[in-house]
Amino acid sequence: MLRRVGLSLRHFLLERNSSAGHSSCSREAKMSRPVQARRLEGIDKNIWVEFVKLAATYSKVNLGQGFPDFPPPDFLTEAFTRALGGQNHMLHQYTRAFGHPPLVTVLAQFFKKLLGRDLDPMTNVMVTVGAYQALFCCFQALVDEGDEVIIIEPFFDCYEPMVRMAGGTPVFVPLRPNPPKDGKLMSSADWQLDPAELASKFSERTKAIVLNSPNNPLGKVFSRGELGLIAELCVKHDVLCISDEVYEWLVYDGKQHIRIASLQGMWDRTVTVGSAGKTFSVTGWKVGWVVGPDRLLQHLRTVHQNSVYHCATIAQEAVAQGFQRELRLYGKPESYFVQLPKELQQKRDWLVQSLDGVGMKPIIPEGTYFLVADISQFKSDVPDVPNSDEPYDYRFAKWMIKSKGLAAIPLSAFYSEAHKNNYTNFIRFCFAKEEATLKAANEILQKWKQEKTSS
Ligand code: PMP
Repeated sequence: MLRRVGLSLRHFLLERNSSAGHSSCSREAKMSRPVQARRLEGIDKNIWVEFVKLAATYSKVNLGQGFPDFPPPDFLTEAFTRALGGQNHMLHQYTRAFGHPPLVTVLAQFFKKLLGRDLDPMTNVMVTVGAYQALFCCFQALVDEGDEVIIIEPFFDCYEPMVRMAGGTPVFVPLRPNPPKDGKLMSSADWQLDPAELASKFSERTKAIVLNSPNNPLGKVFSRGELGLIAELCVKHDVLCISDEVYEWLVYDGKQHIRIASLQGMWDRTVTVGSAGKTFSVTGWKVGWVVGPDRLLQHLRTVHQNSVYHCATIAQEAVAQGFQRELRLYGKPESYFVQLPKELQQKRDWLVQSLDGVGMKPIIPEGTYFLVADISQFKSDVPDVPNSDEPYDYRFAKWMIKSKGLAAIPLSAFYSEAHKNNYTNFIRFCFAKEEATLKAANEILQKWKQEKTSS
């Protein structure tokens, strides 16, 4: 079944490619004025378009794009099937624009537990088409021409174009790696903000900071101390926080995910973004949400009602039932939010071992289902080309997909243009995969190692 889906995606991409070629031969429309809106200037390139196509065409094992290749939990797919085939035919129609009532109700109950405050399902929660649309609503609703928005690097790549489309200016501050001195493998916790550097980015022009914890691509889970520092600066400079917490349940080694909205002075200035795609392993359903104070969410509702307006009712109904179950089982061993991170931690450890075994130094992630590895030991396979326009990690990842059949994503794709050249020795893998997929990846890596030692 999975193979069939993979093949048809490949077919689709190849067909689209050839039909694009065909249309370029046809007569061009005669228009003298520019057709592209100015706000799109410089944001037309997208890493995923290129790498999804490469992976679909060449890879045998795809650890590139972030989605699970294992099935979602039965209770969730059963809820979807019940909603689809059940008596309530109104589930096939529009539901409440800002969120299906059962879903916003249970989200309000759930987040009351997590944030320790009463929430009004109608004004403190809004459902979106995945976390992506939640982020889009945040930037469109809260960022104006001339506003600066602080983005912590490395970052989920859509933040920058979304800020720019809203007329804002992104201001980047990198997490700085601090390798352990004892020769141990690095952890995502070894990547830290420099407090003075972070403070220097806040000014009168700063409207918001984007926080992503657990962080894609590094897997860093920000500590209470780090969040406290960010919160203090937000309060001091009257800055909003857009907190992307889509991996909130995927945290390992007993670490705790702390919600910045729960810190002193932060509720009133924070929008927290979540995703059923990551929470229940259903990225294709595209159900996301925002939680926050009405004074911020009322403006997100304005964007939502003038763009997407409604999200798919049946998917919302099924996600609502998923959350109702999780609320009943909260903290119990049967809870999916307890089981999923346990399973993923094991997968993380397998991939860490495989990569370490071949000398591709993994940075152990504290959360998410991503893992960044250092490829600097592999320069003999793909030599550096000084002054090349293409960053080394892009060339390495493309070479690996085509020559080894193993797909990963270059880390510099998660950096701003100004800083990407400092981070070209890393690639990102996704380990939310079946055991068989991870074994197949390990076989490729082992064979590669043998070829290297025998050459
Ligand atoms: N934020 C982060 C950090 C992500 O990694 C992703 C998905 N890769 C999203 C948001 C978008 O989530 P969704 O699929 O729910 O739109």
